[in-house]
Amino acid sequence: MNIALIAHDKKKDDLVRFATAYENVLSNHTLYATGTTGLRIMEATSLKVHRFQSGPLGGDQEIGAMIAKNQMDLVLFFRDPLTAQPHEPDVSALIRLCDVYSVPLATNMGTAEVLIKGLERGDLSWRELEKNKAERGGEYAF
Ligand code: PGA
Repeated sequence: MNIALIAHDKKKDDLVRFATAYENVLSNHTLYATGTTGLRIMEATSLKVHRFQSGPLGGDQEIGAMIAKNQMDLVLFFRDPLTAQPHEPDVSALIRLCDVYSVPLATNMGTAEVLIKGLERGDLSWRELEKNKAERGGEYAF
């Protein structure tokens, strides 16, 4: 599965702790992240992460482009709801695209815990069917 990891600055420590705690689960998947988040995760764990641009410089949009091609299976986005973000429109667009393509999305640690446990026990395997369908002819299960 392709998994996107993103954390706003005040949530980066939380995401690093989360990635460390679930390193054994995440290591079975292909990981993508915005620039700084990816760097922090790679510094703290032995996980390999494909890093996009930093969020404010377009990284959220790059992840959004993968979602638009139905190539992202899970998005773990630790948002900071108490700080204004210069790239708020990009953040909204990313969340919107997850809804368009029915991509499981966590915007906080509580939901991320549930989703990663589901991922571990195979609850997200339906995503493989979605991707195969999309590759065959662009139909999506809305
Ligand atoms: P960053 O981007 O990982 O490069 O800090 C995250 C964001 O703020 O969207």
